[in-house]
Amino acid sequence: MKAPTSNAISQTSHGLYKAVDYRAIPDPKIYAPEAGKITFRGSEGNCGNKLWLEGATGRHTFCHLSFFNVALNQNVSQGQVLGTMGNTGLSTGPHLHWALRLTNGEWVYPPSKVGGSMTEDQKRVEELEHLVDELRAEVERLEHIIDKLNAPLKILAPGKYEVK
Ligand SMILES: [Zn+2]
Repeated sequence: MKAPTSNAISQTSHGLYKAVDYRAIPDPKIYAPEAGKITFRGSEGNCGNKLWLEGATGRHTFCHLSFFNVALNQNVSQGQVLGTMGNTGLSTGPHLHWALRLTNGEWVYPPSKVGGSMTEDQKRVEELEHLVDELRAEVERLEHIIDKLNAPLKILAPGKYEVK
């Protein structure tokens, strides 16, 4: 999945609700993060002019648009221009609000699903998870050796063995 814009992120936090905001400059166009279908196109409250894009990853919500380039029920390809960022709804200036609900219903911070742009923290977590896996495998290997040793040997005291 790609980001809908290469503009800078202007806001990462929306409280408990997971979403991200991007600046409308230098390029205010919104590009489809993945292929999918437009399942909502209209104006709705705080979101202003809103689009839903249903893709393989889940449902993307885009808010505050000034212009739509796609129609309801239209199939779009990845990278296709969906519309232009704007200032409609509850917004203090032109920007893009992007939220992502996975197909399993879980809301996620959208940039976390963008390929090739993991944050340093995410990379560190993946490295640590990999190390934990390696340590688990090593512990299993050692337990296996201890089992073998314990078969012909009887433990007399910690660290001291006697051949039967
Ligand atoms: Zn927002």
